[in-house]
Amino acid sequence: MFNSLSDRLTATFKNLRGKGRLSEADVDATVREIRRALLDADVAVPVVREFTSKVRERALGSEVNEALNPAQQIVKIVNEELVTILGGETRRINLAKNPPTVIMLAGLQGAGKTTLAGKLSKWLKGQGHSPLLVAADLQRPNAVKQLQVNGERAGVPVFAPHPGVSSEFESATGDPVAVALAGLAEAKSKLHDVVIVDTAGRLGIDAELMKQASDIRAAINPDEVLFVIDAMIGQDAVATAQAFNEGVNFTGVVLTKLDGDARGGAALSVASITGKPVMFASTGEGLDDFELFHPDRMASRILD
Ligand code: GDP
Repeated sequence: MFNSLSDRLTATFKNLRGKGRLSEADVDATVREIRRALLDADVAVPVVREFTSKVRERALGSEVNEALNPAQQIVKIVNEELVTILGGETRRINLAKNPPTVIMLAGLQGAGKTTLAGKLSKWLKGQGHSPLLVAADLQRPNAVKQLQVNGERAGVPVFAPHPGVSSEFESATGDPVAVALAGLAEAKSKLHDVVIVDTAGRLGIDAELMKQASDIRAAINPDEVLFVIDAMIGQDAVATAQAFNEGVNFTGVVLTKLDGDARGGAALSVASITGKPVMFASTGEGLDDFELFHPDRMASRILD
């Protein structure tokens, strides 16, 4: 783990063998290398700044550890700090004491919400739950239909405004709050123990979208609000996460498209800026390309 960063730092430290404690200049040279690694991984600039200053402080103050050389010592600090920001332990879904557990999905259009709804429902079903998917994304023409297709593939029922005649809702005239509430009522009457509510996204943040998401949240009082974000979004992660955090006060983050080239910097940016844990990782278009998020694995992906 961390071989790559470790190698880079070891090169920086080549002439320092035998030194028990690093000078400030040594630490600064190392921190520059760490900054470069984080920026390469697309971690947002303000997050990099805060992170490296914390690492610098700890590295300067750290006791001499006989078992580790200076490079290893700093890599250990970086590792620990990354894992802490990413949430420490793997965070599980907060299940309601009185079912159904209500999970709301929010995020920009194209982030992967509808795909995730299918994946999450299949995963929960595999764990013995009886989920219901609710199609409250009435913005995008095809969203209801796409959720129905995903539900069918997952073997999970979908509550849509009028099943089979979703065309009526392929416009902004439907009321997503009413649909979400009706879906919740349906889940209670059919004894589903988990409800997953898919909501609309836009290509960019806008006030109307955020109000809609916030109205849905207020109406259904979810146990979890998952903010779905494309790992490839790069430096835009911060503004997007801040807007959704203010708009819907999400409880956890799902990172999608981790099968792509993204190094996972978005995870660190979002977690650091909002203080919310990353809970799941989506790693492909298939329904099974989905896993619990492990902060330690992401830390090594960022630094590799
Ligand atoms: P939504 O607008 O947020 O509901 O996004 P969608 O679920 O419709 O996903 C947008 C596109 O991204 C679709 O073509 C999905 O197949 C694709 N997609 C979603 N999740 C992933 C993922 O983890 N990896 C990859 N490679 N593609 C994904």
